Amino acid sequence: MYDGLAAHRGTRLLSGFLSLEIAHADPSVNSFYGVHTGLAMGSINRCGSDEQKQRWLPPMARLEKIGAFAITEPHGGSDVAGGLETTARRAGGHWVLNGAKKWIGNGTFADLIVVWARDEADGEVKGFVVEKGTPGLAATKIEGKVALRTVQNADIALTDCEVSEDNRLQNASSFSDTNDVLRLTRGGVSWGSVGCMMAAYELALEYAQSGSSSAGPSPPSSSCRTIWPPCEPGRSGKGQAVTALAAEAPWSWAARQQYQAATVRYGR
Ligand SMILES: Cc1cc2nc3c(=O)[nH]c(=O)nc-3n(C[C@H](O)[C@H](O)[C@H](O)COP(=O)(O)OP(=O)(O)OC[C@H]3O[C@@H](n4cnc5c(N)ncnc54)[C@H](O)[C@@H]3O)c2cc1C
Repeated sequence: MYDGLAAHRGTRLLSGFLSLEIAHADPSVNSFYGVHTGLAMGSINRCGSDEQKQRWLPPMARLEKIGAFAITEPHGGSDVAGGLETTARRAGGHWVLNGAKKWIGNGTFADLIVVWARDEADGEVKGFVVEKGTPGLAATKIEGKVALRTVQNADIALTDCEVSEDNRLQNASSFSDTNDVLRLTRGGVSWGSVGCMMAAYELALEYAQSGSSSAGPSPPSSSCRTIWPPCEPGRSGKGQAVTALAAEAPWSWAARQQYQAATVRYGR
């Protein structure tokens, strides 16, 4: 019997703070972390049977197996809910997948990829765990990205790719299940954004308050230095930045929750 994702990955709060701190250092590494622990492990945890969770989640939590999540397609990102083109056809004890996926994080080296495809029989979206080396699965690294360059994204081709019924996520029967996985990971994206903003703030502050800084190409002007308020004694710059941004940003409720949690940690 599987004993729960939190036993391996920690609570969602811990996971959120990890996203914040990892993104603070490198958003690419946070993308790797979010895809692996959130989208891939999250899909199996939300949509897998107990046997499937026990089979995949413990080795994934130990990073012995790396996961990816493939929903985006060449013709559909934001609007993929309305038109997933990758198909799944049941053929006895296995399924045959055909189609293409785009931008798949960790997709070049993942041990298993959670692929979302539309069942030809009932038209519903279902989830399949496609393991590395499965015939008919091909992943090509996307080159020339302008950002998030460390995390590898792949174009994926599925050509008569056979996956056993054992690898179909047993509790995913429509796109609303997929959507639930996406919903559960959005908090992590917000945490990561806060980490990025903290780092950007710290670099800008360091540059603005110093006459010469490694953070900028040339020394800042004196007017630039006066724009940035000095930190109050005992309070960190990033704490002030987080508080200010929380007050200003017309962002989602979820993002504001992350800000408030971070404010508690770093001080107002
Ligand atoms: C670094 C990176 C990593 C990624 N990792 C993964 C991954 O691991 N797995 C995965 O499945 N996908 C991944 N993606 C894909 C990502 O989820 C999609 O890029 C995203 O869903 C947007 O889809 P799109 O690129 O097709 O853009 P589009 O949906 O074509 O959007 C383009 C623009 O049009 C706007 N727009 C779209 N629809 C509407 C509308 N109805 N009304 C008004 N404006 C609209 C959008 O806001 C955007 O500005 C990744 C992408 C990147 C860049």
